[in-house]
Amino acid sequence: MNVHEFQGKSLLKAYNVDIQEGFVAETPEQAVTVAGQLHDKLGSEFFVIKAQIHAGGRGKGGGVKLAKSLGDVSSISSHMLGMQLITPQTGPEGKKVNKVLVAQDVYYKGESETEEFYISILLNRDKGRFIIMYSPEGGMSIEEVAEKSPELIFTEEIDPGMGLQLFQSRNIAFKLGLTGIAFKNMQKFISGIYDTFIGCDAQLLEINPVLKTSDNRVLAVDCKLVLDDNALFRHSELLAMRDLNEEDPVDVEAGNHNLNFVKLDGNVGCMVNGAGLAMATMDIIKLSGGAPANFLDVGGGASSKTVEAGFRIILKDPAVKAILINIFGGIVRCDRVANGVVEAYKSIGKIRVPVIVRLQGTNAEEAKKIIDNSGLAVFSAISFREAAELVADILNK
Ligand code: GDP
Ligand code: MN
Repeated sequence: MNVHEFQGKSLLKAYNVDIQEGFVAETPEQAVTVAGQLHDKLGSEFFVIKAQIHAGGRGKGGGVKLAKSLGDVSSISSHMLGMQLITPQTGPEGKKVNKVLVAQDVYYKGESETEEFYISILLNRDKGRFIIMYSPEGGMSIEEVAEKSPELIFTEEIDPGMGLQLFQSRNIAFKLGLTGIAFKNMQKFISGIYDTFIGCDAQLLEINPVLKTSDNRVLAVDCKLVLDDNALFRHSELLAMRDLNEEDPVDVEAGNHNLNFVKLDGNVGCMVNGAGLAMATMDIIKLSGGAPANFLDVGGGASSKTVEAGFRIILKDPAVKAILINIFGGIVRCDRVANGVVEAYKSIGKIRVPVIVRLQGTNAEEAKKIIDNSGLAVFSAISFREAAELVADILNK
């Protein structure tokens, strides 16, 4: 699960990480009010207005703007709120901006230069260890740094049992070229972000840029936090941060029914139990001259309700010309699935495309009878090849 920058920063702050302070706003009036509060609280003269969408590269797309007065705050946020923001990460359709973060300007002039770094924490599954990845080349995308100057990307491996060691945060601060107070502040920063990562059961915490201010503070200016879905059951406070506006409605619906669904761009919808069988089904659809419109694993315990939800989701895609249901009855019995298909078919009403049902395994013959006798326009098949040929016939009609 992804969270917004403002939510990630609030978590960082709770773990004693210094952040670029700010408040979120949903209207230009709110934006001006909170900018006023930032001025009163922290003496900020300038502000940055930052679009809150679940995608990076906002700066490049016009989603991060400097405001030099309350008038600017008002005009920039009116423009940004409601806009369809396109960044290198959103795809050409962009993402609608429903909230902006009004933050203090932290790039002020002072006794020393500001410096931008890149720091992230992730899990290396091969090694079973956490990795802190960091670079003195902050601000730009890490992919760019990896291409232009891979020697400037460093890593520190952390044994999860031992946790972050002092020498490691020291090593990071040293390799980032810091000295004096900034060095100490960086050590504290590293320890705080590690605590955040562990405390939230995160999968990724990426802060780009981490800023060394002109008065040697070390702040999180941006925050990308991805939480581990499998650990969310023990973090109701984090689950409450979920923003359904940022997720694809079809994915949300599939998730609500415990369906593993991935949209693809072909013309044959598929509903299968088991990921391996789903892959094989996609292959056979290709071989028969079609292309899969989706990957859909209904899981082991497919009930008529799950089948119905699967149907509804697949039918939302106008490109779908046929639906192939391919179920192997192992634990689940084919006759039950067949009854589920018939039920779903009845409750959805008219289904605009031909449906090919292949049920194999326990009680397959009985299942075929149920389908054939249902009076519905469903084609039933027992062998995989037969099912594929039916798909090919329908597509060639
Ligand atoms: P991203 O483009 O989505 O990664 O958004 P960021 O939060 O990283 O912001 C993009 C860029 O905006 C940063 O790399 C900074 O250069 C700039 N920026 C962010 N905060 C400030 C600020 O307080 N003052 C100024 N002048 N620039 C800022
Ligand atoms: Mn960034």
